Amino acid sequence: MEIVRRVRSMRETCKQARTKGQRIGFVPTMGFLHQGHAALMRKMREQTDIVVVSIFVNPAQFGPGEDFESYPRDLTRDTDLCIREGVDYLLAPEAQEIYPPGPRTYVEIPDLSASIEGASRPGHFRGVATVVLKLINIVQPHAMAFGQKDAQQAIVIRRMVEDLMLDLELHIVPTVRDERGLALSSRNKYLTPEFYEAALAIPRSLEAARHVVGEGQTKPEEVLAAVQEVLAADPLVKIDYVELVDPKTMEPVELIEGPALLLVAAALGETRLLDNATISPPEDR
Ligand code: AMP
Repeated sequence: MEIVRRVRSMRETCKQARTKGQRIGFVPTMGFLHQGHAALMRKMREQTDIVVVSIFVNPAQFGPGEDFESYPRDLTRDTDLCIREGVDYLLAPEAQEIYPPGPRTYVEIPDLSASIEGASRPGHFRGVATVVLKLINIVQPHAMAFGQKDAQQAIVIRRMVEDLMLDLELHIVPTVRDERGLALSSRNKYLTPEFYEAALAIPRSLEAARHVVGEGQTKPEEVLAAVQEVLAADPLVKIDYVELVDPKTMEPVELIEGPALLLVAAALGETRLLDNATISPPEDR
C-alpha cells in the first residue's frame, strides 16, 4: 500500500488506473479507523479493482467549540488497518492543500441539511459536501462507500451525486456495532467505562422503537416517547434529538405507514454520539 500526501500525485495515479481500465473504489474517512470503516473498504474491494481510502479531519465540517483539535488521530494504526484490508492507496493530504488561503467555493444541499444533525451543527453538511466533492474530483472514483451510521450524511451525499450528475455508484453500508450493540465510532475512544455503559442506552432505545412499532404502534409521538424514556432513564445520557423522518425527504413522518428513519443524537459527557435505525410497520417487513 502506498501513502499519498499530495493531491497531484493521487490525481496522476488514479488517472493512470482509469486509463488501464481499472475500476476505482473510494472510502473517505476522518481516520482513527475501526471495523465500521473496514466494512466500507471491504465493500469497495468486492466492487472495484483499486481501493483508495482518504484520511482527512476536515476543518470545514466542525463548528466553533466542536472537537476538531481533539478529534482522535493515529496514522500508524490506521495504516496497519488499511494494509490488512487490502487498500491500495491511502490519501492523507495536508489541510493547506485542500483549503488553500483565499476565497472559497462551497457545495450546499440546503433542503436536506438544515434539519436534525444540520440544525445541531450549522454548516456541518456544507463542510461535508464540499470536501467530499473535492475528494471525488481528485480520485475520480467509479464507486464510493458511505456508512448508514451517518444516515443524514448518506442522504445528503446521494442528493449531491444526483443533482450534480456525478458519474459514480454510491454504496451505503449497514452500521457495524460492537458486541454490546453500540455503533462503532472514532469518538467512542473518549468514553470512560461509566459513559460507555450509559451509551448502551442508545441502541436499546432503537430496539424499544422497533418493539413498539412491531406491536402495531403507528403514531410517531408514541414511538419517540418510548425512545426518550429509555434514554432519559440514564442520567448520564443527555438527549440532543430524537426524530422520526421520511428517509427521502428528511421531513417528520405523520404516521408510520412505511419505512421511517429514526435518528438519535446524545451526549455522554463531552462525547456526542449518533445512531439510527430504519423502522418499518409489521406488514411492511
Ligand atoms: P468518519 O471517519 O467518522 O467520517 O466516517 C467515515 C465513513 O465511515 C462514513 O461514511 C461513516 O458513515 C462510516 N462509518 C462510521 N462509523 C461506521 C459504522 N459503525 N458502521 C459503518 N460505517 C461507519
